[in-house]
Amino acid sequence: MSDHGAATADGMPLRELYQEVIMDHARKPHGYGLTEPSDAESHQVNPTCGDEVTLRVRTDASGGRVETVSWEGHGCAISQASASLLFDVIRDLDREAVDARIGAFRTMMQSKGSIDGDEELLGDAVVLAGASRYVARIKCAMLAWVALEDALTRA
Ligand code: ZN
Repeated sequence: MSDHGAATADGMPLRELYQEVIMDHARKPHGYGLTEPSDAESHQVNPTCGDEVTLRVRTDASGGRVETVSWEGHGCAISQASASLLFDVIRDLDREAVDARIGAFRTMMQSKGSIDGDEELLGDAVVLAGASRYVARIKCAMLAWVALEDALTRA
């Protein structure tokens, strides 16, 4: 996904496709609803936009592996879609793999649109790359990922 101006097979511009994926996730978020048991929770607020995300992490007995995450929140489409996309990417992974994905996501969001994102690590979450061009949107997109990072310090 290197060319944002490229068209998909059915002629839809990639940017519109990305927009559609974001709206789909915002409308029908994956992993929504806090679940038990969990090992740690983090609540993050983005005051500039009014976004809120509460995210829970469940690890295995050793704490070395993230089994699943769950979350609740409200706010703009980007913040909610980002949490939903995170849920799809961060499950049944060891901590190192989770850290790599958080790092890859942050690098993408800090790139001001110059990095498309590593699809192998981030899956559909690369659709948020375009949002990194808008400074005000970076916090929206990062919110759930910061919550995950924060929760993991206590998991
Ligand atoms: Zn927002």
